[in-house]
Amino acid sequence: MKNWDVIGINEFLRDNPEMSIKNLSNTCLVIAGNYSCIAYHEKGGDTDLNYNLQIEIPAEFPKAIPIVRENSHLIPRDKKHHINRDYINKKDSLCLGSRIRILQTISKYPTVTGFVEKCVIPFLYSAKKGKFVFGELAHYYEGIVEDYEDIFDVSGSQNVLMVLNCLSKKKRIANKLFCPCGCGKRLGKCTFHLKINENRHLASRFSFRQEYDQIFQEILLKQKAMHILYK
Ligand SMILES: [Zn+2]
Repeated sequence: MKNWDVIGINEFLRDNPEMSIKNLSNTCLVIAGNYSCIAYHEKGGDTDLNYNLQIEIPAEFPKAIPIVRENSHLIPRDKKHHINRDYINKKDSLCLGSRIRILQTISKYPTVTGFVEKCVIPFLYSAKKGKFVFGELAHYYEGIVEDYEDIFDVSGSQNVLMVLNCLSKKKRIANKLFCPCGCGKRLGKCTFHLKINENRHLASRFSFRQEYDQIFQEILLKQKAMHILYK
């Protein structure tokens, strides 16, 4: 049984008395209720935030990312507002940014409060102001690829895939692959391997493999669509 208090669940509930535990299992903890705070940003000033939120925290946190749903329906459900639509279960979730970017943040702040303050509040603040003042959040795979180009300082979706491929393999095997930086050497012979290694602890190799497969599929789909368009 996971000790949920390691991630500061009691502290968070004490600070947010209108939120409470809705479900608890070995794999997930669900908290929900009214979340309110005053958020501040130097460009946009103070603003009151008041939303009905549901936060599903996986047991692997901070190596897996919580899902956040906004049940008060104050945020428009469109691409501009970064909402992941779920038409089948009618359970939309907030698109908080690219996976590695969030994992990097929560590995530095591995508590529920840290996650909410660093990942959720900036989102709600931006959604309310109608402008993503905390930086444009990546959305869909093109945004994710762009964000990974930025994080790893590589260019092109092919090189982003090579990064994820390296992260999904053991060091010994990854070091024999061609380096994603484009130097033409093996990863092990380039200082780029340091950049790969410092991100390894963020999540499991299996989950990096899953993300590789997802992005690869998206790129294939897009290429097929282009092919049909320009045939
Ligand atoms: Zn290199």
